[in-house]
Formats: sequence, C-alpha cells, structure tokens
Amino acid sequence: MSDVKVCKFGGTSVATAAQMRKVKAIIEADPARRIIVPSAPGRAHSDDAKVTDLLYLTHEMASNQQDIGPVWNRIVERFQGLVSDLGLDLDLSATLEEVRARIQSGAGADYAASRGEALNGLIVAALLGATYIDAAEVVRIAPGRRIDPASHALIRAACADDAQRYVIPGFYGSDQHGQVLTFSRGGSDVSGALAAAALDAAVYENWTDVSGVLAADPRIVSGSRTIAEITYGELREMAYMGASVLHDEAVFPVRERGIPINIRNTDRPDDPGTMIVNRREPGDQIVVGIAGRAGFTVFALEKMMMNVEVGFGRRVLDVFERFGIAYEHTPTGIDTMSVVVADEAIGEGRGEAIAEELRAAVHPERLDILPGMALVATVGLGMNHHVGVAGRLFSALAQAQVNVRMIDQGSSEQNIIIGVEADDLHKAITTIYQEFIAS
Ligand code: ASP
Repeated sequence: MSDVKVCKFGGTSVATAAQMRKVKAIIEADPARRIIVPSAPGRAHSDDAKVTDLLYLTHEMASNQQDIGPVWNRIVERFQGLVSDLGLDLDLSATLEEVRARIQSGAGADYAASRGEALNGLIVAALLGATYIDAAEVVRIAPGRRIDPASHALIRAACADDAQRYVIPGFYGSDQHGQVLTFSRGGSDVSGALAAAALDAAVYENWTDVSGVLAADPRIVSGSRTIAEITYGELREMAYMGASVLHDEAVFPVRERGIPINIRNTDRPDDPGTMIVNRREPGDQIVVGIAGRAGFTVFALEKMMMNVEVGFGRRVLDVFERFGIAYEHTPTGIDTMSVVVADEAIGEGRGEAIAEELRAAVHPERLDILPGMALVATVGLGMNHHVGVAGRLFSALAQAQVNVRMIDQGSSEQNIIIGVEADDLHKAITTIYQEFIAS
C-alpha cells in the first residue's frame, strides 16, 4: 500500500469559488493528498442548475436542431465566473468554443456531459498547480459502463511522479476506440475509487457536503448521529434500505483491495467523517445504523404440511421469475411462506395475475396479498456478540405500538429486518434509534 490519498470532490464542493478555496486548503493541508478527482460544478445556490444537467440539455437541444446558445451561455458563465473569481491565469475561451461547436454539431450525450468534469478539472488543476490528466486517456470504460481493468496500469503510468499532484476529472473515460464515455450519474465516485485502487492508495477520501454517513435519515430522526466507522458489509445493508451515500459501483474497486473510504465534509474539514472499512471491532456498539423504506408488498402463502412438500419454495419463486421479478425476502414458517417484493417490481395491476399463477403452482390453502408494507433494517456487527438484542428491539417497538408484520434476520447476523405498516415507518425507525443509538 502506498501513502497516497485520493481525494474526490463532489459537485457542491466545487460549485463556487468559495468552495474551491476550501478544496485548495484541504489539499494543501496534507502532502499525501496528491490525486484529486473533481466532479462538475453542482448547484451554486438552491435554485441553480447542475452543470452536468445543463450539458445534457444542450445535447438534447442540439439533437432537435435547436440553438443551444442560451443554455450554453449559462455554462460559460459558470466556468468563466470560477476562473475570474479565483483570479486564475487560465484562458478557457478556445476550449469552451470547441466544446460548444462539437455539441452543436451533434456530438454524443456522453461527450457533452463529460465536459463538466473535463473543464472543471482544468480549473482545479490551475488552482492547485497540479498536473491535469485527461480522463479519456487513463480511464477505460467497458460495455455496460463498467471499469475496464486496463485502466489501472494507465493511471499508474500517468501518476508516476511522487513529487507531483495530479487532477483526474471524474465521471468519464473512453472506450477502447478512444470514444468518450461516462459512468452512470454520480459516477465521479467511481472514478475516484478506480484511481484509489489503481494506485493502491492509503485511503480514498470522498469529500462532500455532509460529515459522513448518518445513523438514521435526518428527515426522520433530527440530529441523527454521524457513524464514525462502518464496514462495507454494514454500509451495503444501509444502502439497500435507501441510505444514499456513494455510487453503488464505487465500493467494489476499493473494497477488493482493503482500501478504506473516508467520507468527509468540505465545509467542515476538521470533522473526521465516516470511515468505511473491511473489518472493525464493534466493541460495545450494538447497532451502527437504521434505514428503512416503504413500497413493499407481501405475498403470504399458507398450506398445511408445506414443510415436507419437496419443491414448494422453488415453485413459488419460479412464478416470480416468470414475471421477471427479483424478490427481496422470503420469511418462512412451518406451514407458511411469504415473499416480499418491491412495488415497482410488481408494476401496475400484475398482483392478481401473480396470485393466480401462485395458486396454480402450489395450491395454497390461503393466499393474501398485503400491500403497503415498509421494511426497516437495524444494522450492526455488534448484534452478533450481544444477548437479547432482538428482545430489546421488539419490546421497544411493542411499547411504541408498532405492529411488526414480518421478521427476517439475515444469516450474516449483522442485521435484523422487520416489516411494518408503511404508516409506522418513521415511528419504527425513531423507536429503534432511541433504543440503541441515542441511549
Ligand atoms: N457530474 C456527474 C453527475 O452529475 C457525475 C458526478 O458528479 O459524480 O452525475
């Protein structure tokens, strides 16, 4: 492992000159922060637009033979504004004009969108006195917008001088023919993770506008605590339940190599943020976080002697497969089996058709479709080592009058998932938070 730190800055961290100055101070505070991966400028204020969205819009307008002029001027103002507010000796006019001409004459959506990062990277490099690397030359993107492992050697070769800082714009790269491609939205996270993996970084610092991952959604639990340390596995459970932290694909490259991710706040650089690690010692901490979301339906089947009927489960799941539906959970009892499915996977009006097929497939004595369910995951490695966690969880919920409709404890024993009425979602999360985290 090298001592280099790869620092990715999200859109809000590079949206204005004032934010950019914070970035400069952060980078200069630590000589190991040598690789900088910036996003395109995000919203400068709440009713502003993200540069990436404006760029997609110019592409769309150009494809409809419309004049991109007015939208393009807004983009130019954002970039020229940054250059002049930062007092940089950098003339972007020719580059901007070339980009405008290419978009107006039909360049692809990926090319258009990628220019937010490409242009911003030039500004960040000028601000930091760093070497600019065009991501198209070092980030190879394979079909499906996935990382092509060939990128690793290219990044290593381009960042070979330990005495230099390098700026690699996020979000884009190119295919094997040199055609510019982007990752999916939010993909600068992926670029940062790739650079960290390629350089075997000591840490991947992901700078954003929050001081880390919160133990619960702050819209539900106000003043929710920041998680100091969480494993990749625990984070995955939280993310599955809707806690949005990082782009999904940003985790794999670093996780694989055991490189920790540190989520940091550009506005509060002294906050330690959240460390995402491969392994940790939970100590006395039982629960690390709670996440939940509504929008699930349960297909509840009941049949006497189901437990000895060979192939019952397979036939049930086969029906869902035929409908092209991935199921979320299948809690079972001796004579019961439930299949929990996300509403968006069922789609409008297919519930009855699925029930029909289930009846034909396994002849249940009873089959109920129970819509309006929410799932809540209580996550924490510490649950493994403590007696009575489930007892505490369920008595707290009972006291709060939350009716638990389903229980599923994953074999990893780092989570307990419960199903509650969608109306009880917030109450359930608040209750569990009070029981295990606030106290
Ligand atoms: N600028 C891109 C987006 O808005 C990528 C990123 O910021 O991560 O999706």
